[in-house]
Amino acid sequence: MANINNQVIIIGAGIAGLTAAWYLKKCGIQALVLESDQQVGGRMKTIKIDDAIIDCGAQFLSSAYTIIPQLIKEAGLSDDFLTTSEWVGIIKNNHVALIHPNKPWTLISSRLLSFGDLLRLGYTQFKLFYSKKKSLNDICDWTKYDNQSARDWLIQQVGESTTQELTSAIFNGFYYQSLNQSSAAMAAAVLAFSTWHPKTMTLKSGINSLAQKLAEKLTVKPNSAVSSIIETSSGIKIITDAGEFYAEHVIVTAPAPIAKNIIQNPDKEMSSLLETQYSSTITIALLTHEGWSPPAAVNSAYGFLFNPDSNAKIAALTIENNKCASRKKSGHLINLMLADKEAKEFFQLADEEIFIEIQPELEKVFPGISAYVYKKEMTRWRYAMPYTPIGRAKAVSNYRATRNSSNRIWLAGDYLGLPWTDSAAETGLWAAKEIEVRLQNPD
Ligand SMILES: Cc1cc2nc3c(=O)[nH]c(=O)nc-3n(C[C@H](O)[C@H](O)[C@H](O)COP(=O)(O)OP(=O)(O)OC[C@H]3O[C@@H](n4cnc5c(N)ncnc54)[C@H](O)[C@@H]3O)c2cc1C
Repeated sequence: MANINNQVIIIGAGIAGLTAAWYLKKCGIQALVLESDQQVGGRMKTIKIDDAIIDCGAQFLSSAYTIIPQLIKEAGLSDDFLTTSEWVGIIKNNHVALIHPNKPWTLISSRLLSFGDLLRLGYTQFKLFYSKKKSLNDICDWTKYDNQSARDWLIQQVGESTTQELTSAIFNGFYYQSLNQSSAAMAAAVLAFSTWHPKTMTLKSGINSLAQKLAEKLTVKPNSAVSSIIETSSGIKIITDAGEFYAEHVIVTAPAPIAKNIIQNPDKEMSSLLETQYSSTITIALLTHEGWSPPAAVNSAYGFLFNPDSNAKIAALTIENNKCASRKKSGHLINLMLADKEAKEFFQLADEEIFIEIQPELEKVFPGISAYVYKKEMTRWRYAMPYTPIGRAKAVSNYRATRNSSNRIWLAGDYLGLPWTDSAAETGLWAAKEIEVRLQNPD
C-alpha cells in the first residue's frame, strides 16, 4: 500500500492505548502511539511535590481487576503493587459511618444498614456471582440489565434504604454520577465487584508508574496532538501538530468528545458512542505540616464517600498516608474530589476561590486541617468519567458486533467500557485483538 508507514497507530497513551500497544508488541506488531500530552498515562496521572507522591486522577486499583495486575506483573512492578487500608467512610450530614467491604457486619455496626437490608444485599450479590460469572471489565457482559435506571433496578433488588445509604454514595464518590442517570448495567457490575472480596490496591510510586513502565518498552510520541483522522482508499491519514502519519489501522482512545472532533465520517454505530458525555471533577491534593492528624475515630480509613443527599460539594476524599505510608514522609496528604455539578461550576475559578468554596465541608470532616495546609495542588478533569446511561452497554455491544473486514478505525477507551482503569484496558485489548486477527489473516 502506498504511503503506509505504520501498521497500527494508537491515538492516546492512557491505559487503553498502552494496553493495546503492549498486546500488539507481544504479537510482534509494532504500533506507534501518538500522545497529545508530554506525559503518558492520561487519567492515570501522578506528580511529585516536595516529599509527596500525588495521584491526581485515578486513585486506586483493585485485586479483582484482571488485566491491570497482569500488566503490572509483565512490567516488573509486582513488588510495588500493595494493599491499602480497606476501611471506608460513608459521610452523610456530617456523620461518618465506617465500613469494611470484606466485613459485612460493619454495615450494621456502623448503623448504615439494618440486618434485613444486609441479608437482601448479600442475596442479590450471591445471585450475581453464581448466576453466571460475568466479567467486571467488559460492559458487553451486562447488556441484560441495560433497560432500566440503576436506581429503579437497585430499589427492586436491594431495597430503598441500601440504594439510598450505600450505592448512591458509591456512584457519587467513585464516579461523580447519580443512580438516576446511570444504567442498571453499571449498577449490576458495581454490585458484583464486592462478591470477589477485592482488596483495594495501589502502586508504591503512584498509579502513573505503570504507564511509564509500559511506555518505556513501546514507541510513544508525546506532544503529538491529533487533529484529524481521515480514511482514504489506501489507508488512514492522521494529521497532528507534529506532522502527518499513515497507518493501516488506527485505535482512537481519546475521550469521546475529543474523538468525535477528530474522526471524519464515523459510521452509525461509532457516532452513537462518540456522543458519550462525561462527569467532571477537580482533584485537590492538600499537603499538611506535621502537627495535624485526622480525628482518631476515622484515622484508620483510606477513602470517604459523600452521600449525595448531603448536597456536599466534595464527592470523595482520601487519606493518602493510609493508601501507602510512603505517600508523604512527614505530615499528611489528603486528596479531595469534587462532585460533578460543582466541578463543572468551579472549572474557571482560581485555585484559592475553589478552596474557599469547599473549606467549610472539609473542616467538618477534618477539623483544624486548614491551618496546617501549606500546599494545594488542583487538577481539573472536564472528562473525568463517562456516564453510563441506559442503552450504552447495548450500543457498545452492537458496535463490537458490527465490525467487519472493512473497518480500519477502532474506538477504545473507558467510554466503551465501565468507568475504571481495568475496563479501559479491556477496551484497548479488544481493539488490539481485532486488529491482530486482521493483520495475521489478510483477505
Ligand atoms: C479523578 C479521577 C479518579 C479516578 N479514580 C479511579 C480509581 O480510583 N480507580 C480506577 O480504576 N479508575 C479511576 N478513574 C478512571 C480511570 O482513570 C479511567 O477510566 C482510565 O484511566 C481511562 O483510560 P483511557 O485510556 O480510556 O483514557 P485516558 O486516560 O483519558 O487516555 C486518553 C489519552 O488520550 C490523549 N489524547 C486526548 N486527545 C488526544 C489527541 N487529540 N491526540 C493525541 N492524544 C490525545 C490524552 O492526553 C490521554 O493520555 C478515575 C478517573 C479520574 C479522572
